[in-house]
Amino acid sequence: MSGKHVWWTSPRDNQCHAILKTQVDGPGDGTVDAECGGVLILDEVTKSPNNNWCTSCLRAVGETADDHRWR
Ligand SMILES: [Zn+2]
Repeated sequence: MSGKHVWWTSPRDNQCHAILKTQVDGPGDGTVDAECGGVLILDEVTKSPNNNWCTSCLRAVGETADDHRWR
């Protein structure tokens, strides 16, 4: 996995999404933007992946990650 992202699981779609670490560390308003364009609410997320990867996030991360597995 890319070192630039964390993967958090949303209970809304039961998928884990890629979140930029800069968003995680930065000042937030209680939400973070996933790479697929979705918004995750910090109070709801499970801060670990559940192996049900969001395909849109995988694609988005795959374009910039060193690992070309998802191309
Ligand atoms: Zn996603």
